[in-house]
Amino acid sequence: MSVQHDVRNFTQEAFTRWLEDHNVAAYRADQILRWVYHRNICSFSHMTDLSKDLREWLFGQLVISRLEPTQVLGSVDGSKKYLFRLEDGHHIESVLIPERNHWTLCVSSQVGCAMGCKFCLTGRSGLLRDLEPAEIVNQVCAVKDDLPHGKPLTNIVFMGMGEPLANYDSVIQAIGTITGNNGLQFSNRRITVSTAGLAPRIEDLGRDITVNLAVSLNAADNKTRNRLMPINRTYPMEELLSACGRFPLLSRRRITFEYVLMAGVNDRPEDAKRLAKILRPLRAKINLIPFNPFEGTPFKTPSEAAICAFQKILLDRHYTAIIRRSKGEDIHAACGQLRARKALGMVPPQRGRQAGA
Ligand code: SAH
Ligand code: SF4
Repeated sequence: MSVQHDVRNFTQEAFTRWLEDHNVAAYRADQILRWVYHRNICSFSHMTDLSKDLREWLFGQLVISRLEPTQVLGSVDGSKKYLFRLEDGHHIESVLIPERNHWTLCVSSQVGCAMGCKFCLTGRSGLLRDLEPAEIVNQVCAVKDDLPHGKPLTNIVFMGMGEPLANYDSVIQAIGTITGNNGLQFSNRRITVSTAGLAPRIEDLGRDITVNLAVSLNAADNKTRNRLMPINRTYPMEELLSACGRFPLLSRRRITFEYVLMAGVNDRPEDAKRLAKILRPLRAKINLIPFNPFEGTPFKTPSEAAICAFQKILLDRHYTAIIRRSKGEDIHAACGQLRARKALGMVPPQRGRQAGA
């Protein structure tokens, strides 16, 4: 039995080629993809500008996948967390975050993560598998479909589960579909890929597509970073920051450096001063994220005073440094936390489909 291809796993070019190989005219690819991405139609039978024979044939050859959330949790701060069950039973999550006049969607790129960062719950479980392009795009389609009225979805950040640059080809392909004319037509200025620091892949990314870059730095010296993020032993900070220096930035954009603040680990004034110094050659802004605790972690969130003092040192040195509170702490929205609870059987099914869902 032949496996049916998923329309959403094709690039536009590959889909056109596949149709032509099956004696279907190239322009049909445009028609079908517009049904799928512009109108969110997932059944060939509704594609009324295709002949009945073609629709029936396509039905036998292809599938059009979609993700439906098994759970949607609304937080008191307005963010919404979506838990999706994949075909093979794994779970991934996406978080919709309210901004002043739009929504930002945080998507996952892998089930789990192989990077093993010590402060990250996702890192604890290791990598289960990469997501396919369709599974990344489908997170966006599913949430777009469920948006509370009023604000548009304008920003997509690859800051959910997984290391996007470790699933490079699928992430690039998914971004192609998300930004494509026959895809979701998102602006690439509104997409940010966040990485733990796979330096050679940062160079590839800059060459292959145009997006914003975020780097999870989390330390201002190699010794501390080696301890927190094992990837630093492969690509130490000098190499990482020099790859950042070569990254082609969109006009008026800067690289975002994320810095999870952990009490007594990386939150001292000298850490802030050193951070300001090492980022000086770059067009950088800094997101300070107070550590979001989870069961069994040895790390602690710094005091408010320590967080503000850290920020002040950066502000005094003319950096944009924003304190990013983890959204949706009441719904376990921090990286990997809802899925982890699901795996532990801690989330009652369907509870909390609320808050505008
Ligand atoms: N793998 C990519 C993208 C996903 S992680 C990366 O590391 O950049 C998204 C962000 O969540 C990272 O900046 C990471 O440093 C942060 N993070 C992970 N665990 C956290 C925790 N327990 N508290 C606060 N932020 C955390
Ligand atoms: Fe993976 Fe990012 Fe978590 Fe590190 S912080 S383990 S790279 S998801």
